[in-house]
Parts: sequence; structure tokens; C-alpha cells
Amino acid sequence: MSMHDDQKPKIHFDHVRAVFDLKGEPFVALDDFDLTIGANEFVTVVGPSGCGKSTAMNAAAGLLAPTSGAVHVDGETVTGPGPERGVIFQQYALFPWLTVRENIEFGLELQRMRKPERREISDRMIELAGLTGFADALPKNLSGGMKQRCAIARAYAVNPSILLMDEPFGALDALTRVRMQEQLLDTWAQEKRTVMFITHDVDEAVYLANRVIVMAAHPGRIHRIIDIDLPYPRTEDVRLSTRFAELRNEVWNAVYHQQPATTKGSSQ
Ligand code: ADP
Ligand code: MG
Repeated sequence: MSMHDDQKPKIHFDHVRAVFDLKGEPFVALDDFDLTIGANEFVTVVGPSGCGKSTAMNAAAGLLAPTSGAVHVDGETVTGPGPERGVIFQQYALFPWLTVRENIEFGLELQRMRKPERREISDRMIELAGLTGFADALPKNLSGGMKQRCAIARAYAVNPSILLMDEPFGALDALTRVRMQEQLLDTWAQEKRTVMFITHDVDEAVYLANRVIVMAAHPGRIHRIIDIDLPYPRTEDVRLSTRFAELRNEVWNAVYHQQPATTKGSSQ
């Protein structure tokens, strides 16, 4: 499932450029990030450290204003965060003074949802995140993995049509990680969301995505876009298939055997 005709553009990175001031010198974190993500696509982004993955995502989240270019969501220019975009960072961003349940219900309260409905959702999210029995715990009493699962539950709770996920499972142990991948794919299939998911794990990138965006550094840019023609639902059989191995190798080579940039490396 790539950009079919029946898919409307959901997120459009329109020649996004991000230049930071580095001790008085301009530093190009993102050169010309131009990408259209269709509604209901699951796009993963991989690339070496410092290639601008988080910068691109922060622009879509409305947390960073591009130096030039713009991000459009549903045709509207992004000028700040919005409830239709759920953001999940690598480092659990929880309110330390709120309990697990209060953290998860926070966005729902902002939407003025009534308490019984909030409860119903937070109950479901707590179960989904494997936090049963910890509803009243404070973040400081949770393990790192639990905190991250709570942050994910909080983002899922408001049911945003777009999920922007910046290495969300990086801190989780292998088993929890696979479980979270399965859950994410399940909800994505059921509730039809658009997902932009950053990871440095090539297997994870291929397993989840219908397209993998491979970035390159110095300056940060799109290097290659690889279509993942594996069927959904992604099962154990898919993970063990020869096609999966081929695609993993292709992405791996694109990430780790990048030629030094002589021209702009984007292939699409
Ligand atoms: P990635 O997520 O791919 O590792 P980032 O998007 O975080 O990369 O960063 C891209 C580059 O921009 C890095 O070299 C980083 O040091 C630099 N950078 C990011 N944010 C800022 C900032 N606010 N000020 C200066 N430099 C920054
Ligand atoms: Mg990053």
C-alpha cells in the first residue's frame, strides 16, 4: 500500500529546511525534506544519528518552525501542536505529579470529556499498556519501560488520526517491544491512522512500514525511499519470509553503506 489514488495526502512536507545556529555558524539540520504521506500510511524513518529525523518529526508536530518550507496536515499549514497529531517521544514525557491514570486522562480532560467516559478509555489503555494495577502509581514508582508504555497510552487515549513516534520503543526490552509493535499494527489496521515512526532498528522499520524513508546526514536529507511490499497483517511468517530478509538487507545497505553525497541523494 503505497500512495494509491484513493489515498489523500495526510502529511505533506513541502521542501522543509531547518537551519540551526551553531555557535554563530549556520548548521543545516534538514536540507530539503520533501515528502507526502498518504492517509492511513505507515511510514518509518531510519538514518544515521544526527540526520534530522527528529527535526523533521518536530516540524510535523508543530514544535519546530521550519527555516523555509512548511508542513501541511490535511491541507492546512502546521503552526503548532494539534489534537489530531499524537506525539510520542523516546523519553517518556509524563507529568511527574500525576498518576498513571491522570496522565492517560490528561488529554481527554482537556477535551472536556466527562469522567465516566474518561474512565472507560483509561481503563482500556491501562490494560493495553500492561499497566493493570498501577493506575494510581506515580511515574517515579514505575520502571523505564512502564513509563514509556504510559506515555504511549496517553497518546493513544485521545485517538489522534496521526501518530508521530520518535523512537518510541527504543528503551523497551525485546519482548515488550514486539508486543507494542503488534498492538500498534493492530490499532493501525482497525482504526486507520497515519503513522510516522522513527527508529534506528532496521528490522522494526521494515516490519511495521508500507514505506521506509532512509535519510542521510550532512546535510540531513532523504536518501532513499523503499516500498515494503509485504502483506498485512504482518505475522511471524512475514517476519521469517525471504522477502522480509531481502528488504531488510536493502534498507540496511541504504542506511549503513551510504555513498558520500556528491549530488542530492533522494531517489524519489
Ligand atoms: P536525529 O534525530 O536524526 O538523530 P536531529 O533531528 O535530532 O537528528 O538533529 C539533526 C542535527 O541538528 C543534529 O546534528 C543536531 O545536533 C542538530 N540540532 C537539532 N536540534 C538543534 C537545535 N535546537 N540547535 C542546534 N542544533 C540542533
Ligand atoms: Mg532523534
